[in-house]
Amino acid sequence: MSEPEKTISTANEIVQAIREIVGPGSIALHEPSFDGNEWLYLKECLDSKHVSSTGKFVEKFEALISEFTGAKYVVSVVNGTAALQIALKIVGVKSGDEVLIPALTFVATANAVSYLGAIPHFLESDEKSLGINTFKLRDYLKANTQIESGLCINKITGRVIRAIVPMHTFGHPSDLENLLSIANEFRLILVEDAAESLGSFYCGQHTGTFGMAGALSFNGNKIITTGGGGAILTNDQSLARIAKHITTTAKIPHEWEFDHDVVGYNYRLPNINAALGCAQMESLPEKISFKRALFQRYKSAFEKISDAYIFEESNKCKSNYWLQTLILKKESQVVRDTVLEESNKCGIMTRPAWKLMTHLIPYRNSPSMNLEDTNSLYRRIVNIPSSPELIRVQK
Ligand SMILES: *Cc1c(COP(=O)(O)O)cnc(C)c1O
Repeated sequence: MSEPEKTISTANEIVQAIREIVGPGSIALHEPSFDGNEWLYLKECLDSKHVSSTGKFVEKFEALISEFTGAKYVVSVVNGTAALQIALKIVGVKSGDEVLIPALTFVATANAVSYLGAIPHFLESDEKSLGINTFKLRDYLKANTQIESGLCINKITGRVIRAIVPMHTFGHPSDLENLLSIANEFRLILVEDAAESLGSFYCGQHTGTFGMAGALSFNGNKIITTGGGGAILTNDQSLARIAKHITTTAKIPHEWEFDHDVVGYNYRLPNINAALGCAQMESLPEKISFKRALFQRYKSAFEKISDAYIFEESNKCKSNYWLQTLILKKESQVVRDTVLEESNKCGIMTRPAWKLMTHLIPYRNSPSMNLEDTNSLYRRIVNIPSSPELIRVQK
């Protein structure tokens, strides 16, 4: 076989293995499902007329998330990006600071840093966790930073590196144990971008609860959705109070007076979105079990494929398997674009990983580690259909 013929035949083999699992027809990458109390709660919300800034669903939704994640305090907001922006703000990230984030992430992680006037500083990921490579990071920080008056200073830019934001890629927990020890050693504040990892645990503890604060997203493509929405998680009562206050226009409670003590944000989650969220939280355990079952099916279908494998949680992690991830072996990376083409052509929606942040116009001049492994990962990742419905309909 010639090289191009081999590429096509490998790609077809891979697409065939996916088709075996997803069944016939046109298959989305990820669809939400509304088969619990969604209609009931939405009707109740509409009937109550409290669709916006008052009503009982916001508090109820926050309590459900708190109970599920073990986070002591939960502040719901308009979206995950706003949740991360406010999480970073309340822990003390300031204009001119640098914040360490993986280069392999959705652009929102970098944008949330930028909204505060801070500068994202990009890190290498690893194939074991799909998150920050803690091994390389430790050496990098040793070589390029120094501690001055309890702050981590970037020796090259002279700026304070204030925080580190791991992102739990496609739902898979990052190496939190080493991230916590690095944060401690280099005086960095840990804030987690847990937008994709509601329902994922590291050593039995929910992601998003390891740092000073964490951010969740309830966008339409996430494991549960409120249409648009997000939440800040923290175990610190005073941080939670500040987060609630500044995301609700910093209004001082009063029966009729409009008084605001700082520049606040209108980032509150409307009651009608929270109503949807309450119903979605009730079916979260089922969605997770369907996604974990879907992983098992893909895994067995790919056992016969030598050019690629399906990413699997490590023994310390229990993943929500939000987006199923196919990873091509290094020697088969040329096949990626053909897999993307052939699968989308036959109605199976697949997607590459996000372009690395350092390749985006707004971030190409930001500080960065060497991204050799991350570049390789980017060229080998394909996300494949992941809706929990794929299991339900075949049960
Ligand atoms: C979805 C997502 C966000 C942002 O969430 P929105 O609710 O869409 O604003 C942030 N970070 C990551 C990694 C995400 O996947």
